[in-house]
Amino acid sequence: MSNISVESKQKNPNIVDLKNSNTVDLKNPNITDPIESLYIHVPFCTRKCGYCDFYSLSSKVADFSAFYYGLQAELAATLADIELNNLHLNKLKTLYIGGGTPSVLPHDVMTSIIDLIRKEIGFTQDLEFTVEINPELNGHNTVLAAIEAGANRISIGYQTKQDSLLQKIGRLHSYEDFLIILNLIRESGIENISCDLMFGLPDQTLKDVLESAEQLIELKIPHISFYSLILEQGTLFYKKYAEHPELLPSDDLERLMYRELLDLFEQHQYQYYELSSTAKPGFYSKHNYNYWSTKPYLGLGPSAHSYYNGIRRGNVRSFKKWSDNPFTSAELEPVNFFQAMQEYAMLTFRLAVGFSPEKFKQRFGINQPFDAELERLLNKDLIYYNSNTKSYILTKKGLDFGNQVFIEFV
Ligand code: SF4
Repeated sequence: MSNISVESKQKNPNIVDLKNSNTVDLKNPNITDPIESLYIHVPFCTRKCGYCDFYSLSSKVADFSAFYYGLQAELAATLADIELNNLHLNKLKTLYIGGGTPSVLPHDVMTSIIDLIRKEIGFTQDLEFTVEINPELNGHNTVLAAIEAGANRISIGYQTKQDSLLQKIGRLHSYEDFLIILNLIRESGIENISCDLMFGLPDQTLKDVLESAEQLIELKIPHISFYSLILEQGTLFYKKYAEHPELLPSDDLERLMYRELLDLFEQHQYQYYELSSTAKPGFYSKHNYNYWSTKPYLGLGPSAHSYYNGIRRGNVRSFKKWSDNPFTSAELEPVNFFQAMQEYAMLTFRLAVGFSPEKFKQRFGINQPFDAELERLLNKDLIYYNSNTKSYILTKKGLDFGNQVFIEFV
């Protein structure tokens, strides 16, 4: 871990100027960017997976009407807020319905939500519209309804090929179920498909991970997100494994799994474009790219986040509190110009294109102020300078120890 403290960073003369100067009136560019992305969090799942920290309730006790009316009220208040602040909202370029498990919604509720967004905001011709689904057998009608209503990208929670591992992590589907839903989606004419793949699971071997990835490659899945298991406090897995890390793959094995996945995807002409994302050309996630570029987005639903007008808004993680008061129960965090620069640097280092001083200047109107941080990272061999792209990019070591890079900008 880096031993650079925030306090020591403030001694950097550039940074002190930017933080304290009264002569510059520089605003977070997120305020002036047009808003073109929306995320909707569906807070219901058939059953909680052992490792999951996302906010979700059991779909057996779900009040789907209250959810729809909550979304309607939150959207109306959000649009009023946008108007009040003279912000620029365009028709959507990206819409992402995630969760939770959106495919547990009754199909008419899914259609009503999509109609609501279309009517109140509107969609561009080239909208990327993703719906997240689980390969459980009970959500097929909803998936088809979403596709009929305009969804053109489906993200499937595949996780792993081995049924024994799926059971171990609490998933309700089998590999066979995944194949059934995949066929259904393809028969509906959808090519833009993403699959989530997990590694570092209890008892998972390197062979399991590679077999799971090879299967996706063979099935010609054009976008794959690959994540390692993270023990989140409050989850069943945290209770079970936090004090018994020996039951999980070691850090070295987990790093090996990640590297081997990167190599495998590269051999099959996938472009790794972000730390956890790889895609065939033309299939990267525009919605997620928007986040990593610190552009504005709206978020609706309990626990959803939004970032517009230079303010991060985190909705309350309680269905009851949210539905009682969908807009005003959120926590607000204004992001000033300096913090916006830090976030931009941190997030662009996640991207394969890396941190470009030229693009930074285009976004913020000033030269990047992070010479000291970049120097330290270069010296530690965590990043390198690519003279063709004129950007700083993570080295192999940086890919393994990304947190040491990001912490420089916190
Ligand atoms: S289905 Fe997804 S959101 Fe729901 S509990 Fe499992 S991992 Fe979490």
